[in-house]
Amino acid sequence: MKLFTVGPVEAFPETMAVYQNGFPYFRTEEYGSMVRNCMQLLADLLGTEYNNNIIYLTASGTAAMEASIENCLSQTDKVLVINGGSFGQRFCQLLAWHNIPFDSINLKWNEQLTKNHLMPYEKRGYTSLIVNLHETSTGQLYDINMLADFCKKNQMYFIVDAISTFLADNYEMDKYGIDVTIFSSQKGLSLSPGLSFVAFSKRMKEKVLSNNILGSSYFNFKDYLSNITRGQTPYTPAVYIMYELREMLKLISSTGKENWLKRIEDRCFYFREKIIQLGFQIPDTYKLSNMLTPVIFTDISAYDVFIELQNKYRIFVNPCGGDLKDKLLRVSHVGNLFMQDIDFLIEKMKEISNKLREKKND
Ligand SMILES: *Cc1c(COP(=O)(O)O)cnc(C)c1O
Repeated sequence: MKLFTVGPVEAFPETMAVYQNGFPYFRTEEYGSMVRNCMQLLADLLGTEYNNNIIYLTASGTAAMEASIENCLSQTDKVLVINGGSFGQRFCQLLAWHNIPFDSINLKWNEQLTKNHLMPYEKRGYTSLIVNLHETSTGQLYDINMLADFCKKNQMYFIVDAISTFLADNYEMDKYGIDVTIFSSQKGLSLSPGLSFVAFSKRMKEKVLSNNILGSSYFNFKDYLSNITRGQTPYTPAVYIMYELREMLKLISSTGKENWLKRIEDRCFYFREKIIQLGFQIPDTYKLSNMLTPVIFTDISAYDVFIELQNKYRIFVNPCGGDLKDKLLRVSHVGNLFMQDIDFLIEKMKEISNKLREKKND
């Protein structure tokens, strides 16, 4: 079996090995200092100065999206959302659910976000911008410089779902004035699903601590922020994924952040070059993240290729939903993957596509 999915991804033996050891009780100094150490290392990778400003939730990434809305915003805010696909749409749904006023910039699947989209929203009283920096449903990586400038110019908080770009593309939280970074265990970090993380800028941490109208009791960030100073959480966390995280951070530290990202980029570029040589198409109307490559199908169904890869070879890639179901497949480059894995995938994609074409022409 091989996972070319965006999350969970193909796991590393170093993190899986933690399950052989059993886990100590977590309300201890030892566990707390292990967590604090992990948070410090995560801050380095995020490009932010560590100041007890990262919390973790035992919940998938969407919970961290929702909890961030509940804790960082209120009904007096006016939010702008970049909605370039199903994850942007998810933010719109969450904001509507919580009755927080918002407008969204809606993009077609192959449309690149540009300054022209932002212009009508300048100086119109928006308090925050929310974006999935890499819109995983299409592969589009938005221009961080452009968005950071827009927020600065309009004095807006900058809230970033970095779930599918952190540890796939370079990410610099403080440099771009990002106020909230949301990420989760099963994507770039390549761990089991179940943990999500929220990192705050200094001013956002203060805003959260002074927010008295909270939408959630279990996800009350004030409790998480006060507990994290000791490396603890208000409620029982997914302790074992924290041990996986410790091993993963060791692995990334010993490799170096730049080399780590370079390996992903090498696999990504290798895949793109080969697949184009074979006559497949990839999007060229917008900038792509290194996390994944969308492959476009015009004469056969992308979904049929996905099913055949899975049933015949136990190879898993990501299909798309809705209108894109027959049009796009997404292939991830993150996780414990090697060049020969990519060769195998490409060979099988070619073989299956040819068979489906022959069948269609019969
Ligand atoms: C994966 C992902 C999420 C979170 O999805 P969960 O299934 O809740 O973990 C959120 N945003 C983006 C951009 C993602 O890629």
